Amino acid sequence: MTIRLADHTTLRIGGPVGDYVLATTEAQLVEQVIALDQVGRPLLLIGGGSNLVCGDEGFDGTVVALGVRGLTFTASPDFVEVVAACGESWDNLVAHTALSGWAGIEALSGIPGLVGATPIQNVGAYGQDVSHTITQVRALDRSSLLVVDLTAADCAFTYRGSVFKEQPERWVVLEVTFRLMVGGESDVRYAQLAEELGIEVGATATPSQIREAVLRLRRAKGMVLDPDDPDTSSVGSFFTNPIVGDAVAATLPTDCPRYPAPAGVKVSAAWLIEHAGVTRGWRARADSRAAISSKHSLAIANLGGASAAEVLELASAVKHRVQVAFGVELEPEPRFINCELGRSPD
Ligand SMILES: Cc1cc2nc3c(=O)[nH]c(=O)nc-3n(C[C@H](O)[C@H](O)[C@H](O)COP(=O)(O)OP(=O)(O)OC[C@H]3O[C@@H](n4cnc5c(N)ncnc54)[C@H](O)[C@@H]3O)c2cc1C
Repeated sequence: MTIRLADHTTLRIGGPVGDYVLATTEAQLVEQVIALDQVGRPLLLIGGGSNLVCGDEGFDGTVVALGVRGLTFTASPDFVEVVAACGESWDNLVAHTALSGWAGIEALSGIPGLVGATPIQNVGAYGQDVSHTITQVRALDRSSLLVVDLTAADCAFTYRGSVFKEQPERWVVLEVTFRLMVGGESDVRYAQLAEELGIEVGATATPSQIREAVLRLRRAKGMVLDPDDPDTSSVGSFFTNPIVGDAVAATLPTDCPRYPAPAGVKVSAAWLIEHAGVTRGWRARADSRAAISSKHSLAIANLGGASAAEVLELASAVKHRVQVAFGVELEPEPRFINCELGRSPD
């Protein structure tokens, strides 16, 4: 039976794969990756498939699905150390820790995918990202064939980035260790989340309260997977918030939201898209089955049966419109497999 990437990705696009194997133990995963590398066979690691844009031609190699499970919790008076294997469901872990009253990842509720992918783009939302709590990542280094323990500093986390994202062919994340605070409340620094909780920015709430509020906000934006809601057939945000220099930031309208960032000024991609004339529900062509989500201008949704070409056509058109309107280059957030963004003719 032909296996198609469309059946293993949340955007539901992508053609056939050469072959598909499921690794259920760390030893199996390491062995499979090394064996494939030794014969030079192209390899695609896949977790929840929620950050992948795959081409219609598919992938002529082996897809290795990450089914390695395992969780340990070690408590001390002030914190709990959580060690999670790469194939654990991210949101199940967040639900468990939030219900246990352990603080640190509760604002990352409702994000699809598996634990092993979270360090790759330093998954983040609502004022938290995993770099705040990750203390160690255990990974296979495909260049040395060694399994190594990386500290948070070794991971070189940035906004939606890390050493793993920089060198996607080098690392296989096997296990991630998080340090969460016990029995406390978290500061809520994200204005929209504070408003949803009915508290001031900087006030505190319990991990469970934050999880519930985040899930409500995310559902309203189509940012929690729901098979009955085509807006959630996406990769979440298609573009990152661009980080621009002060000179470019000064040319943008004053009402464009902006935040200080280590290497410049981070500006809202959603604002740029909406003010470049791309409205929610917008399509590149009237008969396209890919559209901007009706709930969030940063998400591209497969309304049913869209091809990768339709998704890419829309993404390219959005990127082009923002470039023309504001001179800012949007960068896509997901990883592209056997496809790329072109330049829109419009
Ligand atoms: C509705 C929706 C909402 C989202 N919201 C957010 C959000 O708020 N914040 C956010 O940051 N992201 C968000 N995302 C993006 C996505 O869910 C995250 O990036 C998630 O961590 C991807 O996990 P995954 O297991 O699905 O990765 P996949 O899509 O399976 O893989 C992504 C990439 O990582 C590689 N990879 C996966 N696992 C490993 C591993 N163990 N070792 C090495 N490489 C690996 C893959 O080869 C691929 O290149 C959202 C996506 C959707 C669909």
